Amino acid sequence: MKPLLLVLALFAGLFLPASWAQPKTYGREITCPIDGQVWKHTWESISRASKNRLDLKRLEISPTWLMPQCPKCRFAFYQAESLPLPLERLKPYILSEAYQTASKGRPPSYCAALIQTFLGGPPFKVGLHYLAASWQTESNPKESREYLDVALTHITAALTSSSISAEEFQIAASLCGELERRTGRFEQARQRCEAYLTRKGFQEEYQQAYLKRILSFVAAKDSAPHALTDADEHLVEGAR
Ligand SMILES: [Zn+2]
Repeated sequence: MKPLLLVLALFAGLFLPASWAQPKTYGREITCPIDGQVWKHTWESISRASKNRLDLKRLEISPTWLMPQCPKCRFAFYQAESLPLPLERLKPYILSEAYQTASKGRPPSYCAALIQTFLGGPPFKVGLHYLAASWQTESNPKESREYLDVALTHITAALTSSSISAEEFQIAASLCGELERRTGRFEQARQRCEAYLTRKGFQEEYQQAYLKRILSFVAAKDSAPHALTDADEHLVEGAR
């Protein structure tokens, strides 16, 4: 699987329903591993022509579907539910005043970032949770921007982290260019994307198209979210 697709799979694959392409509301019952609370997690899929945004947000599906969260203790599934949880460490943290205070009124992926940080998770994963938190709060531009800035800080830090793989580096590096553009850091975005265009590891057709598309918006000083073009989507599909 190509690097960009790894992240798309990370976000899109965890709780993907079989018939996700049909626009409708989905729901399923989840039991909280911390306090046993049972709730129905629901989400909507939305039919769109383009599937992904340049910042990797999937456009067909409401961003809140990505992250089931217990309505009682606010534990957020920071990783796939099928993976084992370090419950001995997690339980006292989730139930602590520190987590209960920090998570109150925050979107699910922000809570997941808190949990990943507590567990000493790699900056790339923490940054991706903050990025998803920015998607979950786009109706509140000030809050969304706050998370976008924090995401950029963590994903930039990930570039020099010893825990990052070569494939993750390629995703993180391109994503940094996009998040610099989205946060109005146009000169940084331009320099970064131009440098990666000629760098080993960024020569696949879809990678070049991705970087050039960011550069076209940078040249126009455009910081708005944008979807991949149909042609770029085709390249990503072809890279599978
Ligand atoms: Zn709970």
